[in-house]
This record gives sequence, C-alpha cells and structure tokens, in this order.
Amino acid sequence: MNRYDAIIIGTGQAGPSLAERLAGSGMQVAVIERGRFGGTCVNNGCTPTKTLIASAYAAHMARRAADYGVESGAVKVDMPQVKARKDALVERSTSSLEKWLSTLPNVHVFRGQARFIGSRTVAVGAETLTAERVFIDVGGRPYVPELPGVRQVPYLTSESMMDVDFVPAHLLIVGGSYVGLEFGQMYRRFGSRVTIIEMAPRLVHREDPEVSEAIRDILAAEGIEIRLDARCLALESAPEGVRVEVDCSVGAPSVPGTHVLLAVGRAPNTDGLGLREAGIETDAHGYVKVDETLATSAQNVYALGDCNGRGAFTHTAYNDYEIVADNLLNGAHRKVSDRIPIYALFTDPPLGRLGRTEAEARQEGYDILIGRMPMTDVARARERGETQGFMKVLVDARSKQILGAAILGVGGDEVVHSLVDAMYGHLPYTVVQHGVRIHPTVSELIPTMLGELAPLKQG
Ligand SMILES: Cc1cc2nc3c(=O)[nH]c(=O)nc-3n(C[C@H](O)[C@H](O)[C@H](O)COP(=O)(O)OP(=O)(O)OC[C@H]3O[C@@H](n4cnc5c(N)ncnc54)[C@H](O)[C@@H]3O)c2cc1C
Repeated sequence: MNRYDAIIIGTGQAGPSLAERLAGSGMQVAVIERGRFGGTCVNNGCTPTKTLIASAYAAHMARRAADYGVESGAVKVDMPQVKARKDALVERSTSSLEKWLSTLPNVHVFRGQARFIGSRTVAVGAETLTAERVFIDVGGRPYVPELPGVRQVPYLTSESMMDVDFVPAHLLIVGGSYVGLEFGQMYRRFGSRVTIIEMAPRLVHREDPEVSEAIRDILAAEGIEIRLDARCLALESAPEGVRVEVDCSVGAPSVPGTHVLLAVGRAPNTDGLGLREAGIETDAHGYVKVDETLATSAQNVYALGDCNGRGAFTHTAYNDYEIVADNLLNGAHRKVSDRIPIYALFTDPPLGRLGRTEAEARQEGYDILIGRMPMTDVARARERGETQGFMKVLVDARSKQILGAAILGVGGDEVVHSLVDAMYGHLPYTVVQHGVRIHPTVSELIPTMLGELAPLKQG
C-alpha cells in the first residue's frame, strides 16, 4: 500500500494546480491520469476549438477583405494545415503540463484508470494508493443520446472532431447550444454546408430569447441552415452519408448530410470510478454531490470541476481548486456559491454573459432596470466593420446593483469583465457609469448604456 497525504484523480483544470499547492505545503501528493494530461480543455475543448476558430476567423476576414479595401485572391482553406496548427498548440500544452507535473517535488504521477476500493483508497493498475484526502477531478465527456439509429450510423463528437483534417461537404450538427454553434460557424467558414438541428424552439435556449434570435440571425446570414423544434430525432444512412429525421413543425421532415456531429451535452466521467464502494453519492445524472465547500458525502473526499455539476467551464474548475486549496491551507471559508456565473459563447461575434438572464432576474422578484445598446452605436465596432449584435445590462432598481449582462458583439467575451468586479464588490451601477474609459473601445459604451436605464417591461 502506497500512503500519501493526498490523491488527486484527473489532471484537468483543477487537479494540477491543486497538486502544486498541496505539494508546496509539504504534502506527499499522488496524481492519477488515465488519458492525456490537461483533460478536456487542453485536448478536446477550449484550446483546440479556439485555435480552430482563429483559423475560421482568418478565412472569414479574408473573404471580407474587399469590405476593407483590401484585395485578396480566392480563399482556400488548407484543413491539414489548420489541424496541424491546432495539434501543435495542444501538443505543447499537454506535454509541458505532463513534464511539469512529473518533475514537481513531492508529486508522484501514476498513469491509468483510478478506481476507489475504499473511502480513501484507490487502485490504479497494479498499485493501491491510500491518502488522508482524495480529490476527484475526473471531468466529463460528450453525451451520446440513445437516438434511434445511433448505433448503426457513424457520428462525430466534439472529441472525434479533433481528428478531422478535411472539410465535410455537408455537416449536420445535432444540438444548437454552445458547442454546436461554435463548431457550426467554424465549419461554415472552412467551407462546409452546415445545418444545425435543435430540439428546442430556439438556439442556446438558456439565454434570453432576444439573444437567441440575434445569434440565429448572425449564423443564418453566413448561410448556416437552422432547424428548430426538431423532435423525435433519429439517424439513418443515406446515399450522401447520413440523414437526420427531425420531424420539425416546419419544412421537410428529414435532413440529409455527409457527416453528423452530436453536440447535445456532456456526461460526467464518474462511472467505473467505484464511487458507491467509497460511499460517495452522485445525483441521477452521475454528478458527484458536493456541499458549498466541494466536500462529498465521504469524509475528506472532495469533487472539483465539471464532475460536481456546479460548473461546466475551465474557469469554474480552476475556481473550485482555489476554493478547496484556500480553505484547507489558509483556513479560509470560501464557498462555491460566492461565484458569479460568467462565461462566453465563442462565436463571432462572441457572447459574453454575466450573472442573471432576464428570466432569472424576474423569477427572483427583482424590480429590473434594463440598458440596451445595438453594436451599430459603438464607434469601435463601426470602425472595425463588425457591428452585429447588441449589449444589455440588468440592474436592480432598489439596490442599484448589477444583476446581469449579455454582450453579444465584437470583444463581448472581454468587455463583459468590465462589469464583473462591480458585481463582486456589490457596487451600485453608478460607480461604473461615472468611470472614464478609453476611446475608441467597445467598453467605453458601458457607462453610456448604464446612463440610459429604463424599467423592464413585464413580458
Ligand atoms: C468543445 C468544447 C469546448 C470548450 N470550450 C471551453 C471554453 O472555451 N472555455 C471554458 O471555460 N470551457 C470550455 N469547455 C469546457 C472545459 O473544457 C471544461 O469545463 C474543463 O475542461 C473542465 O475541467 P475538469 O478539470 O473538470 O475536467 P477535464 O478537463 O475533463 O479533465 C478530467 C481529467 O480526468 C481524467 N480522468 C477521468 N476519469 C479518470 C479516472 N477514473 N482515472 C484517472 N483519470 C481520469 C481525464 O482523462 C481527464 O484528463 C469546452 C468543452 C468542450 C467539450
């Protein structure tokens, strides 16, 4: 039996930093990884998709060159080269992480599938490890629904998309949410015909309807076909490759294409981990149940990152590490509920989202003031020739505090941060409104928008 102070399962976005912090405090730390170091974000998520999106943006802007008075020839996308650029970035990140972790003092790296055989005892290969504390950071994988035909027809997921080095003639994407939309716009710009098929009546249905509609318009303007209300989905082979039965309320009942990407959500990697044997409870979807400090139902066992269902982003997984490390090592009392939701959809233009949607703010009973501004009113957006989208901010009329924001427009993923500190600081919006900002930027219009707040009409 190998005894440690801590065992960390998974090297995603929480595990490696936690290993360094614990080892730095003198603990002996075992780290177990069954796949590529860095987990989803580095290998199949943020890093590769944002790298591919950059290539797609270059192709898009090259096609738009004439709008800027620039001549360019016919635009050709070299997919093997696009993929090679992505692979090089991913390889650099994963191998440097593996090297760094493997050489950290007090850290002992084990490769293989971890499985609990007791509450704080874990088997990996032929080894049995035990520790005072165990940290589960096993992340998730693409969820594959049991659609009729799914076992007969080849399909792609966000993971297998990473191996694609060609431009599919007609890519069908089942799922009109964050992952599906990013791939959809990317492949349209690479030159594919793209059809996005969504079961809900609108895209990114967790967002406010006006955000969904604006995104739909932006994608449709690029020639992306969108099928909403697609219920009773089924896959079948077709002469061109694959056909998705959609049973839409409008239009043809099935959509043929050459390839299909299933982008309908994620499932936690908690099966096969022996959680029950360790007395670690999960919810009906397999997410590890945690309290506000990310402690599980088993003593001294914590779950961090996507597998605890309290976040689905790299920054939330990393924040989980910060909460756990600060509480354990510094005697802090940090809680996961102290975190304000913030994320982006990396379409072009991106959507930066902060705090509550309108529906959430209404449900919580706030007396809401709203500020809106189309991106056509933003000088920087006009100068850049990128005026799609709009910004909006919600404010509590009583406390004057910011409730949430959606910035769909050029730089929206960055601009949204200019409101987050005011929310963390519980500042009245007037503090932001009265601050002077750089001209010409998109951010400079945030104070203007806050100066034009009006009561939200109840709808
Ligand atoms: C296509 C796509 C794009 C994304 N883009 C973004 C983005 O732009 N911004 C953003 O913030 N987030 C993005 N995400 C989400 C982000 O990747 C995840 O939220 C993040 O990686 C979660 O980190 P994690 O530490 O929870 O788990 P993961 O990164 O999934 O890491 C878990 C690790 O645990 C290992 N593991 C699992 N089970 C075991 C076991 N039994 N034994 C040993 N090892 C095990 C896995 O091999 C893996 O390395 C994206 C996700 C996808 C799919």
